[in-house]
Amino acid sequence: MLFSHDTELTLRAACALINSDRVDGEQLGDQPALDDYLDSYGWTGRRDRDDAEVSAVHTLRGRLGRIWAAAADEERAVGQINALLSDTRAAPWLTRHPEMPEWHLHLASIHDPLAQRMGAEMAMSLADLVRAGELRRLKICAAPDCDAVLIDLSRNRSRMFCDTGNCGNRQHVAAYRERRSKEGAVDE
Ligand SMILES: [Zn+2]
Ligand SMILES: [Zn+2]
Repeated sequence: MLFSHDTELTLRAACALINSDRVDGEQLGDQPALDDYLDSYGWTGRRDRDDAEVSAVHTLRGRLGRIWAAAADEERAVGQINALLSDTRAAPWLTRHPEMPEWHLHLASIHDPLAQRMGAEMAMSLADLVRAGELRRLKICAAPDCDAVLIDLSRNRSRMFCDTGNCGNRQHVAAYRERRSKEGAVDE
């Protein structure tokens, strides 16, 4: 493991959030869809289950997408991460609970609005990356027709493709076809 378990989980949750409207249309359009997403990443605490909550999460999604897009420009990304830490009034405290029995950080009170808590925890996990000099692990899928994001947690930072669809495979098939067609052209 490269980072602490809660950092890695939160970074994965951030990727899934950003990708929720980049692959197959809007996947977080209503409260049940948001509930499914939250349950799958073990988010605890307050849920209002109203339109305002969904729309606040969409705003956070846009903000996180801009941080991923800025990852190559460290100063700019750090500015955005600091702004998110500040806007969400991130205040770390250690906790554990049945959903996650290992000690981990929460960054806001369980009574704070959902998007604020999510934003604070995601900003803190991004701050971990920055402190480790690993901001470039935030990547955009290398497939030409895909703008999904990924967090590359491989040891040698070799991941290029998202895992939302089949981008890695599709690229290999495309490269193979191209080689074949070039070989075909030589034969003629
Ligand atoms: Zn927790
Ligand atoms: Zn992709």
